[in-house]
Amino acid sequence: MLETLSKGFRAAKNRLAAQTELTEANLKEALREVRISLLEADVELGVAETFLARVQEKALGQTVSTLLKTGKGATKVGPAEQFIRICNDELEALMRFDGEGLEFETAPAITGIMLIGLQGAGKTTTAAKLARFLEQEQGRKVLLVAADTQRPGAIEQLQTLGERIDVPVFSLPESNPLEICKRGRDHARKIKRDVVIYDTAGRLSIDEELMAELEHIKTDLNPKHAILVIDAMIGQNSVQTAKTFHERLGLSGSILTKLDGDARGGAALSITEATGVPIRFVGMGEGVDKLEVFRAEGLASRILGFGDVVSLMKDFEKVSDVEKSRRGRQTSP
Ligand code: GDP
Repeated sequence: MLETLSKGFRAAKNRLAAQTELTEANLKEALREVRISLLEADVELGVAETFLARVQEKALGQTVSTLLKTGKGATKVGPAEQFIRICNDELEALMRFDGEGLEFETAPAITGIMLIGLQGAGKTTTAAKLARFLEQEQGRKVLLVAADTQRPGAIEQLQTLGERIDVPVFSLPESNPLEICKRGRDHARKIKRDVVIYDTAGRLSIDEELMAELEHIKTDLNPKHAILVIDAMIGQNSVQTAKTFHERLGLSGSILTKLDGDARGGAALSITEATGVPIRFVGMGEGVDKLEVFRAEGLASRILGFGDVVSLMKDFEKVSDVEKSRRGRQTSP
């Protein structure tokens, strides 16, 4: 799915292959390749420009060039490899947040997690995936609250998923979302659960009614987390959607779904930089086990498609540091 992005970085590296130094002129050509692929992959324009400027600033004037002996023979480490290393670091910096999962309230307080999102984003599915993850990986006791009264079938869907993963589901037919959430939290206390996941109602698009409803729930329940579930396939729109939700509701994170599909990766690259909201998890399939803690490092490496080059550069820098400190010791009195 990340081929659009990888293609640009590959082309840029090829352009720099014969160079001995990264100059303004050859960098411009390489960065043009990257720019095209970022925009093609739906990276938000402002985010793309920021990224390119940071890479240019760090790369200009780099001249490292040497032969590095590895187990497989000698490999050339030159400006092209240095360029990829800088791109890798800056991609990670765009997505910043790395594998922290979620913070919890101190017991006996219950940790509330409010899932928010448009209809079809994958909220209900993600509620079940997250419940399973927290129970199985982190030993938590979860209650799922079915408060999506908007999408027909959402409540039954959550009940079915809850049965499959053996997590209780609270529902209250004929009631409004706020009431369902409040009663759900009371129920969690009664049956001694330490995490409550609220599957709130979405809409087909952002509207005032949706925002007001979510605002009421958030103010009233004051959950530890308000997490936006967002479909990676909606590309550039994901950034505007996330910004709007964040401005009104103060999100503590996002979960990007459908990264297994043919999403081009733009949403993953843009959302944290554009909103300041970290990606906490990614959805990698329809199954309840297809949720992964988000790792910027892993995604940057997949986008670049040069994992070997990056680790080679890291090794190279370690060797150079040792060399430098050895030389430093020899020259000191
Ligand atoms: P909701 O309206 O936000 O509650 O959306 P649903 O949870 O019903 O999900 C909408 C559709 O997206 C369903 O068909 C899900 O199976 C599918 N879906 C959710 N997450 C993922 C994911 O990470 N990958 C894929 N391929 N499909 C997903």
